[in-house]
Amino acid sequence: MRTQMYIDGKWMDTLEPSTFNVINPATEEVIHILQSGCSKDVELAVQAARRAFDKDGWPQTTGKQRAVYLRSIALLINNNLEELAKLEVLDNGKPLAEARGDVADAAGCFNYYAGLAEKLDENNELDLNLSDDRFHSLVINEPVGVVGAIIPWNYPLLMAAWKIAPALAAGCTVVLKPAENTSLTALELAAIVDEVGLPAGVLNIVTGQGRKVGQAIIEHPDVDKLAFTGSGGVGSAIMAEAAKSIKRVSLELGGKSPLIVFEDSDIDAAIEWIMFGIFWNKGEVCSATSRVLVHESIYEKLLNRLVEETKKITIGNGMDDGILLGPLVSKNQLEAVSSAVNRAKEAGVRVLTGGERSKEFSKGYFFEPTILVDVPLDSEAWNEEFFGPVVCVRSFSSESEAISISNDSKYGLAAAVMTKDDVRARRVAKVLRAGIVWINCSQPTFTEAPWGGFKQSGIGRELGPWGLNAYLEPKQITSYVSQEPWGWYLK
Ligand code: NAD
Repeated sequence: MRTQMYIDGKWMDTLEPSTFNVINPATEEVIHILQSGCSKDVELAVQAARRAFDKDGWPQTTGKQRAVYLRSIALLINNNLEELAKLEVLDNGKPLAEARGDVADAAGCFNYYAGLAEKLDENNELDLNLSDDRFHSLVINEPVGVVGAIIPWNYPLLMAAWKIAPALAAGCTVVLKPAENTSLTALELAAIVDEVGLPAGVLNIVTGQGRKVGQAIIEHPDVDKLAFTGSGGVGSAIMAEAAKSIKRVSLELGGKSPLIVFEDSDIDAAIEWIMFGIFWNKGEVCSATSRVLVHESIYEKLLNRLVEETKKITIGNGMDDGILLGPLVSKNQLEAVSSAVNRAKEAGVRVLTGGERSKEFSKGYFFEPTILVDVPLDSEAWNEEFFGPVVCVRSFSSESEAISISNDSKYGLAAAVMTKDDVRARRVAKVLRAGIVWINCSQPTFTEAPWGGFKQSGIGRELGPWGLNAYLEPKQITSYVSQEPWGWYLK
C-alpha cells in the first residue's frame, strides 16, 4: 500500500507534516496511515497540472497518442484486478464480488474513453454552413484545461475513472482528491499511471480532508473546471465558489430514487430489482432505490416476500465468501444512517425488518438491511437521502398517483418502472423527472450511456460522449472568404 501523494510525477509527503488513519470498516482496525495534504500541496499539484497543460504539450498530443496511455492504464488495472478489488474491500467494506466488478468497470471506462480519444482526431472539425456565404466557420473542440476532481467513497476507483478517463481523453490535466475514507486505490492508480509513463503533471493525486485539500482545489484560481461527486451541501458550496471565477462545474449529487411496481409485474423480478437497488453496495449509492411504490393490489404479497428475502441476506466482512452486505463505510456513516432511522421510528414509521446496527458483530460498522413502511409523504425518511441499506415502501392506487408521488422530490437522479406492459412502461418512463429511468430493472450502469441528474441531483452528465464533452470547449474559427472588401468604413 502506498503512503505518499503523487504530484508532478513524484511521490511526496505533505509539506505541512500531518497524517490520517485508514480504518477497515469491517474490523475498525487501523490498517494504514496516509498523508493529510494541505493547501501548499494543492498549489504544487495545480502548478504541475498547469505546466503540463500550458507548456509541456499534453493538449497538443493527438487523441491516438492519449489513447495509448489510456489503454495501458486499463490493461494494468485489469492485470491487478484482484489486488485492487481487495484493497477496495479493506477500505470501503463492500463485498469482494462487487469490488471485482467495480475494478473491471474502471478498466472498461479507460478503454472506452481511449476509443473516444481516437475518434476525436477524426471528428474534431465541424464545417458550418453560415447564413452569410462571405464567411466560413469551423468548429473545433479544445480541452477545458486544468480539472479539479473531487470524489466520494462509495465507488472509490470507479469514480476516479469516471473523471480521469474522459478528462485525459479530452486533453485536460487533473488534480484529483479521493475521499479521505477511501484513498488506497486512487494511489494505486497513480502508481499505474506512473508505470505507463504518463507525462509528469498530467495526473496529480492529493490525499486529505475535504475542508483542507478539497477547499484549496475549489478556491484555486488556476483550476479551470471542477468535477465533483458527493453530497448536495458540498456540491452547492462548490458551485458558489466556482461562481467567483466562472469555473466550469459538473456535479453528481444525491438522489431519492423511486421504483414503481405495477400490478402486472413479475413479483420475483420486482423483489430482485428492489433488493439490488437498495442493498447492493450497502445502499451507499447515489441512485439507490430508496423509495418503492407498489400497486395496492399486490402490496401485501410483495411486502411479505420482500421481508422474507431481505432477512436471508448474509451480512459480514466483504472478504468472506458469500457475503451480500458489508459494513457501512465509516463510523460517521453508521451514525448518520442509525440516527436517520431512529428519527423515522420516532415519527411513527414502521420497521418491517432491520432498523438497527447489526447485533451479530462486536466490531465493524454493520447496519441491518431495513424496510420501512407507513412512511408519510412529507417525512424526512421519504424525502431525504439516507445513503444506507434502507428502503421506504408505500402503496399506490393509480398510475397518475404513482407518477406524481415519484416526481414530488427535490431530486431527479434515477427512477424505475416494473411492468409487463411495454406501452405503459414507455409512457411512465417519459414523464418521470429523472436523468436515468430503468424499465424492469434498477441500477445497471453502462459506460456508453449518459449518467447524471435533474433538479438537485446535479448538473451535467458523465459517461458516454456526454462525459467527454464535459471536458471540452467548442471553439469557432471564422474566416472571411469573400473576394469583395467589407466596405463599412473604407468605401
Ligand atoms: P461529502 O460530499 O462531504 O464528500 C465527498 C467528497 O467531497 C470527499 O472527497 C470530501 O473530502 C470532499 N469534500 C468535503 N467537503 C469539501 C469542501 N468543503 N470542499 C471540497 N471538497 C470537499 O460527502 P460525505 O460527507 O462523505 O457523505 C455525506 C453524504 O453525501 C452521504 O450520506 C450521502 O448522502 C452523500 N454522498 C453522495 C454520493 C454520491 O454518489 N452522490 C457519494 C458519497 C456521499
